[in-house]
Amino acid sequence: MAMLAGMQGVRSALISQIATHIRAPLSTRFKTGLHLPTVLKSLGVESHTAYTDRHADWSDTLFDRMLRLQPIPLEERCWSSVCHHITFLYGMLYEHERLNKATHDALHEKTAIFTSVTL
Ligand SMILES: [Zn+2]
Repeated sequence: MAMLAGMQGVRSALISQIATHIRAPLSTRFKTGLHLPTVLKSLGVESHTAYTDRHADWSDTLFDRMLRLQPIPLEERCWSSVCHHITFLYGMLYEHERLNKATHDALHEKTAIFTSVTL
């Protein structure tokens, strides 16, 4: 961001995962407009990660089911709860056609690289 604002003298930069010119999709603007962190915090949710648990309690299971209703293009729909959580937290970070099955199936192992979001 500093470089985009005109910072001089930087010889290299690593820009990971997210582009420098962010165009928020409609779903992100919708969540922002709802002040979703404030709403979730009022419901007792203090933080959220992309990690999902097969033995989750009823409230986490309900939340997982609700995330399936996110507006996602047909070609990006799948049944991975991890994908749904990642999309909920960060928006769509990848195109499924660019992930092979092994990578997609291992996303739950990679959730540790995604930071949790404290609300
Ligand atoms: Zn997926």
